[in-house]
Amino acid sequence: MTQTTPNHTQTVAGWAALEQNGKITPYVFKRRENGADDVTIKILFCGMCHTDLHHVRNDWGITFFPLVPGHEITGLITKVGSNVTEFKVGDRVGVGCLAASCLNCEFCKDSLENYCEQVQFTYGGIFWDGSITYGGYSEMLVADRRYVVHVPDSLPLDAAAPLLCAGITVYSPMKEHNMLQAGKKLGVVGLGGLGHVAIKFAKAFGLHVTVISTSPSKEKEARERLGADAFLLSTDAKQMAAESRTLDFVIDTVAAKHSLGPILNLLKVSGNLVLVGAPDKPVELPSFPLIFGKRTVTGSLIGGMKETQEMMNICGKHNITCDIELVKPNQINEALDRLARNDVRYRFVIDITAKSHL
Ligand code: NAP
Ligand code: ZN
Repeated sequence: MTQTTPNHTQTVAGWAALEQNGKITPYVFKRRENGADDVTIKILFCGMCHTDLHHVRNDWGITFFPLVPGHEITGLITKVGSNVTEFKVGDRVGVGCLAASCLNCEFCKDSLENYCEQVQFTYGGIFWDGSITYGGYSEMLVADRRYVVHVPDSLPLDAAAPLLCAGITVYSPMKEHNMLQAGKKLGVVGLGGLGHVAIKFAKAFGLHVTVISTSPSKEKEARERLGADAFLLSTDAKQMAAESRTLDFVIDTVAAKHSLGPILNLLKVSGNLVLVGAPDKPVELPSFPLIFGKRTVTGSLIGGMKETQEMMNICGKHNITCDIELVKPNQINEALDRLARNDVRYRFVIDITAKSHL
């Protein structure tokens, strides 16, 4: 589709999955010319979110192939359109999950573009001109200025890249549900890309953090490196039961089907569980732990653009970055396999300009 769109004249080298469950291979494609509201970005780094893996495997049944994944993008501006005043050539910027939205609905007007009914994502979406969007596993991006944020100078562009999705996805519900209060007790379920950033926000705001994990091997690091205050093995029913009614809030980032029952029991009466993980199969939601504790389960999708910039600025102020493992483009497949095996501490980030060939 993109190739036939008239103003898609710029040739870009990237990496794509050409078919379901296929390997990622080098892929050359076209992007649009830089329009009046666009900026062109030389991509330096791109985080590898578990959502990329869900898409490559077509877990959710919505993937268009060829798929160029990647929505945790950082880089430098190389061109700005005539309507762009907020960015200039050379600026350090980031692009997350959003590529377009209607700009007119109540959500867009409130900078909650992520909840616009017509929202289009950075990859696998359909842009205003009808082209399919291709993501950050590529050397260059043309992005509408409304979906671009500044990256504070104090943040390194590699370790900041995952903030564009993992960071905002946990920050937004933490703010929405008033979790960022010193002394409150937060549970973080799933210690992966999203989970480890949730701990960092929570510690920056003085919360007590309990990690709830299936991986005993993560306990030491969770406590010593990430500053978690407690660690519960979710597969140990006794440990879980012993902590019943102790937490104010829980963020659940798990990427696979699981039961919310034992997790809900950890919440105090009226406690709130926010689901951000997006397993392909429905999670189990037993009614008794909900009823007996008057508890709430809610969901949250990334965050709006104003809030994404706010989150970036907070990260700059508190020096919050992600714990990353840098990979070269020829290691993307290996990294996706390791992500599938839960073998990552805690985010792979592709060094897009590293010299390597698949
Ligand atoms: P990740 O780095 O792979 O972390 C997921 C964690 O879930 C793992 O580290 C693991 O933690 C836990 N887990 C337990 N059982 C698992 C299993 N069978 N398979 C995989 N993980 C398992 O993933 P992520 O990038 O943080 O993303 C997590 C989920 O959030 C994904 O479903 C992703 O699509 C979704 N997501 C949602 C949004 C949103 O806007 N709502 C945004 C971004 C991503 P332990 O080892 O500690 O158990
Ligand atoms: Zn993501």
